[in-house]
Amino acid sequence: MGKIKEGLWDCSYCGTRRIGGSKRECPNCGRTRGADTEFYFNEDAEYVSEEVERIINRNPDWVCQFCNSLNSDSDIYCKSCGSMRTSDNLDYFSSKEKNDKYHINAFEENNDLEDIDDEDFIENLYCKSLTSNESMDNNLINGFKEKLNSFADMLANNSTVVLSVIVILFLILGITYLLIPKNEILTIQSFSWNREICIEKYQTVSESSWYLPADARLKYTRNEYYGTERVLDHVETKTRTVTKSRLVGHEEVVVGHRDLGNGYFEDITSSKPIYQDYQETETYTENVYRDDPVYRTKYYYDIDKWIYDRSYKSSGNDHNPYWAEVPTLPSNERISGKDERYFIEGINKKEKQRKIGLEYGDWIEVEIGQTVKLKVPALGNAKVIE
Ligand SMILES: [Zn+2]
Ligand SMILES: [Zn+2]
Repeated sequence: MGKIKEGLWDCSYCGTRRIGGSKRECPNCGRTRGADTEFYFNEDAEYVSEEVERIINRNPDWVCQFCNSLNSDSDIYCKSCGSMRTSDNLDYFSSKEKNDKYHINAFEENNDLEDIDDEDFIENLYCKSLTSNESMDNNLINGFKEKLNSFADMLANNSTVVLSVIVILFLILGITYLLIPKNEILTIQSFSWNREICIEKYQTVSESSWYLPADARLKYTRNEYYGTERVLDHVETKTRTVTKSRLVGHEEVVVGHRDLGNGYFEDITSSKPIYQDYQETETYTENVYRDDPVYRTKYYYDIDKWIYDRSYKSSGNDHNPYWAEVPTLPSNERISGKDERYFIEGINKKEKQRKIGLEYGDWIEVEIGQTVKLKVPALGNAKVIE
């Protein structure tokens, strides 16, 4: 049996509220509490003493058929009018059940007779659904508020993480901005260009490698340090302290309150397991590795290769580019590539001196004194767009 608290009730005659459940009569108007009394739980009440707990009858009060007042289950005669309790007497709960049924029946009959009541009924239903919707909305809003709060907490707790995320975002934005081609308007003042022809020569070079190329001429080999290799040295047995949890017992916790129907409420309890942490030493094994040096054969050899030798350059500050003259090359020499760059120089809208690279096709079409609109990428040549 659970512990007991004294409940409360309101007087239906004079409206006095929060009258102690142990009182049979209203302290204000003196009327005895009747079948329409509603007992309610009082969270702030102290538990009754063990002595009182032993005396209290745990059965609901009974309703006197003659004067409608509530009497304790231990009383045989009505304390108000003296009538004897019979098997027909309803108790606190069954009398309410009967009353509820009576109300429903009466309501249904009314409904059949009068249309106005029907409208009232619909309006009531509408009002009820409105209130329930409102409370649902409130719940939603509260839920959202809680989520916002927990998000704010998370931000506060991880300020370093948040800061780095912001820095990274700004970096990404900055890089993206730099990579976007910019439009620029430039009034051309001068031209410049340079061209280059690269020559490479077939020659013998000495090289070394961990393998021997097919067309190489081996001179010698040597055993050399290649790197390290991770190998298992030994297995170590170690101990560590771990925290484990075990069941040490149960405790009774209050999960609700049962209306005894006599002005008192009894705790409904449930058994909850109690766990306790304890330390345990356990042994485990750990592999210990070491780095061993690895030696391999290194090949030293001569090999013939085309290697950059020199270039023939030409440049100018005019609009007439040309390639430098290359003399007839011997059979062990060849042109490996050509490079050409073309620039315009001038004043932009911000009165700044700018030198911008263009493709030959664009560069040859523009003239000194001309104002051109350019699309300038982060890397590479600009494009004339107007
Ligand atoms: Zn009263
Ligand atoms: Zn009575």
